Amino acid sequence: KNLSSAEIRKMFLDFFQSKGHTIEPSASLVPVNDPTLLWVNSGVATLKKYFDGTVIPKNPRITNAQKCIRTNDIENVGKTARHQTFFEMLGNFSVGDYFKKQAIPWAFEFLTSPDWIDMDVDKLYVTTYPKDTETQKIWAEVGILPDHIIKEEDNFWDIGEGPCGPDSEVFYDRGQSFNNLSEDDPENYPGGENERYLEVWNIVFSELNHLPNGKYVEQPHKNIDTGMGLERLVSIVQGTKTNFETDLFKPIIEQAEELSDNRKYGINDEDDVSFKIIADHARTVSFAVGDGALPSNEGRGYVIRRLIRRAVLNGKKIGIDGPFLYKLVPTVGKIMESYYPEVSQQQDFIAKTIQQEEKRFSDTLNDGLALLNGVIADLHKNNEKMIDGASAFKLYDTYGFPLEMTREYAHDENLEIDEDGFKENMEAQKQRARAARGNLQSMGMQDETLMEIKTKSEFVGYDHDEIKATLKN
Ligand code: ATP
Ligand code: MG
Ligand code: MG
Ligand code: MG
Repeated sequence: KNLSSAEIRKMFLDFFQSKGHTIEPSASLVPVNDPTLLWVNSGVATLKKYFDGTVIPKNPRITNAQKCIRTNDIENVGKTARHQTFFEMLGNFSVGDYFKKQAIPWAFEFLTSPDWIDMDVDKLYVTTYPKDTETQKIWAEVGILPDHIIKEEDNFWDIGEGPCGPDSEVFYDRGQSFNNLSEDDPENYPGGENERYLEVWNIVFSELNHLPNGKYVEQPHKNIDTGMGLERLVSIVQGTKTNFETDLFKPIIEQAEELSDNRKYGINDEDDVSFKIIADHARTVSFAVGDGALPSNEGRGYVIRRLIRRAVLNGKKIGIDGPFLYKLVPTVGKIMESYYPEVSQQQDFIAKTIQQEEKRFSDTLNDGLALLNGVIADLHKNNEKMIDGASAFKLYDTYGFPLEMTREYAHDENLEIDEDGFKENMEAQKQRARAARGNLQSMGMQDETLMEIKTKSEFVGYDHDEIKATLKN
């Protein structure tokens, strides 16, 4: 099918509206009344109020397309086909209304019906919690091939306290030609770290409550909470190699090509990583600033600052000097405006904010360069070959030079870096930060680890026997 991302987003919302759901608009990326979250990172995050009973929804069936930021995926951006720091999550939710028997057939219908997405059934795999035989049975009934229904111990959604339960994830087999792994690699299965089986949808059957004392009890109301990455769905429908060749990113990458010194996307992997990072970060900072978060040295502002700096450094790698990221804002706005008018509406303010921050970083880099040139001149004068660890660290810490950048400059001058010394300085800095942080838990003091979202993979505390005892099939 020849569908645009805007049509696919609308199709999802229309589908669930036709099943009696009310469409909720996307909430801001900045969480409201939720000090545990730095950024909204899932569709359900903004609907917690309905699930914990604080607010009773007019209609217990809700569907949305929600803007999300996940900083814990930053290292994956450009490396995998499927991760961004900014993405949209499509979701359908049942607040104590329908449960598995409806949620699963609807998911199947949306993905495979010729009236909707029309995926090949043979290409779909689902993972399920081993004990959750009801879910396995329903998937088989709707038509998932029996050997495509996989039991996986990890399929349990639990963030420590509160509603939790088994989940089921839908994977799309893009074929071995998409894979980064060989066919017999142990990771080459749905759910493994590979590029062949693409996780598209996570369906959570929220039926238990994880109590503060560690016990699991059944919830009075069973809820459904689902999340599907729009960019991944679009990449399947549009048949692209990664999320970044879809119409959600292409115009941004094309503009970055024009700004670069004659680089083209799709020629070499290293440049492509830079193009992808730039395209991703352009979206993230445009929407974050549009939602009122501004660059600063703490919390959300620090994330924005870091993303802008990473974009600038990747710009340098493809031959762009000086501020440029701000020029991509109108393009981001245009791509997204049919559903999210906020970037286009505020594009001058957003662009100006980003441009100022880029300018500040360029100045800092230039100051760092002056320091580095001084160090290099001294070394040459004394006939020495090693840039000391403290200077390399100062360049990194104060002037934003990644170590590899300093390394490149050193290499050009026939010098080396004292890398052990660099590491020692880094470690000492971490110690100081830890000591200074103490018990302070305020938003402003959130560090890297606190910025990470809670995901089930980080949760290790639940007791499987307890769950098995509580889970009714
Ligand atoms: P993955 O294993 O691929 O990192 P996940 O299991 O962490 O994904 P979930 O927390 O289950 O993701 O989120 C639900 C859906 O949101 C995923 O199935 C995926 O389609 C989408 N999604 C999650 N993280 C990202 C991301 N960083 N970029 C794009 N889409 C994402
Ligand atoms: Mg993930
Ligand atoms: Mg996953
Ligand atoms: Mg998942």
